[in-house]
Amino acid sequence: GKIILGDQLLERSDVLIDLEDRGYQFGDGVYEVIRVYGGKLFTMKEHIDRLFQSAKKIKLDISMSPEQIQDLVESLLKENGVNFGSVYMQVTRGAAPRNHKFPLPASNTKAVFTAYTNEVPRPQSQLENGVEAITAEDIRWLRCDIKSLNLLPNVLAKQEAADSGCFEAILHRNGIVTEGSSSNAYIVKNNEVMTHPADNLILNGITRQVLATLCKDNSIPFVEKEFEVHDLLHADEVFITSTTSEVMPVIKLDGRAVGNGVPGEITRKLQSLFEAKINQETKV
Ligand code: PLP
Repeated sequence: GKIILGDQLLERSDVLIDLEDRGYQFGDGVYEVIRVYGGKLFTMKEHIDRLFQSAKKIKLDISMSPEQIQDLVESLLKENGVNFGSVYMQVTRGAAPRNHKFPLPASNTKAVFTAYTNEVPRPQSQLENGVEAITAEDIRWLRCDIKSLNLLPNVLAKQEAADSGCFEAILHRNGIVTEGSSSNAYIVKNNEVMTHPADNLILNGITRQVLATLCKDNSIPFVEKEFEVHDLLHADEVFITSTTSEVMPVIKLDGRAVGNGVPGEITRKLQSLFEAKINQETKV
């Protein structure tokens, strides 16, 4: 399929990324993943908005408009004929002789925007049966609100989970549960949904924001409040959310059953509300 480099659709094999691209050398850039359902982009505007917010927080000038990116991504999707899958997009601070400092304006270094598509089925059986997770220490930096390319701590946590045969690592900092290595984390206790506040210690997931609205509209208490690892391990229900994992039940934590060891009632309710939201947005 085709990919985007800058404002052009190109063959992937025709694209060259410079050895000194700052994304490659420093992780100096930001990214987004958008889900595609039946050929339609889900919450595209929100993802493109967040890309610009992340870029701004690292003083990166994307030098394209959100509308331009939207048009490019839509044409890429059409060109590649993606049905169920995702679009990955990233922006780096560009290629310049290696130096930690930003390239000088006079050097005319331009941000490098790239995007490509993937065909990925929805994780049906995991959504149905739930997944297992481990708990792990959150060793990331203090600006987890930025969707930056620096994912080494996330990679290490996810691998630790995989090594234990688990789907996700739910992270904690000073005993407080923050989020998953590539997801937001929630507990249900006494019919209340609780998740870490959207501050600098977590990424405010687009799925999280959709869920907050769905809860509000359906009179399900959605509480943004810190909770401890102990609360996680003794919750009635646990689930995680992300663009690719949707609303994913967690049925075992560190090898022990969560609640009854099956996806809980509130989690099921949120899954069906989320499903309706997908249909509403992408089947018009
Ligand atoms: N938290 C982290 C660290 C993530 O990497 C992700 C997504 O990959 C999320 C949360 C969930 O965000 P979203 O729902 O926007 O995909």
